[in-house]
Amino acid sequence: MAQRTFSIIKPDAVRKGHTGAVLAEIEKAGFQIVAIKKQSISRAQAEGFYHVHKERPFFGELTQFMSTGPIVLMVLEKANAIADLRKLMGATNPANAEEGTIRKKFAGSIQENAIHGSDGDETAAFEIGYWFAGYELI
Ligand code: ATP
Ligand code: MG
Repeated sequence: MAQRTFSIIKPDAVRKGHTGAVLAEIEKAGFQIVAIKKQSISRAQAEGFYHVHKERPFFGELTQFMSTGPIVLMVLEKANAIADLRKLMGATNPANAEEGTIRKKFAGSIQENAIHGSDGDETAAFEIGYWFAGYELI
């Protein structure tokens, strides 16, 4: 059964001109792009999105980084989408990411790591609803 997940091409990858290459990896892996939009986000929007990390030491830096330039927000669909996207992304720290993963190819550091993907059913539902209205997902 098809499952949906939420993903962001982060500002570092957009700035470096990797948007098309990252989208190509996603499509090559069999994901359908249900919805997609490019926009800059405010610090407050980033803080709301990452609220689960608000006690982590990197919260300030992370939310500042995410609002430094345009990002690409996407809803993706395929069987096993949540786990398969995490696999395609690779480890949070690109130094530990497997060969062939998006972070291995495009990430610069543990913070500026090119892509976000939901980590579970509940977070996917929250993240899709945070950035997309129902009418954008038909
Ligand atoms: P994401 O949630 O973006 O898909 P992830 O699930 O692999 O990434 P998390 O632990 O949820 O990693 O951290 C969220 C994001 O916070 C990371 O992707 C990265 O941009 C940033 N981050 C994580 N750990 C650190 C750290 N030690 N120092 C700086 N930034 C960090
Ligand atoms: Mg995460």
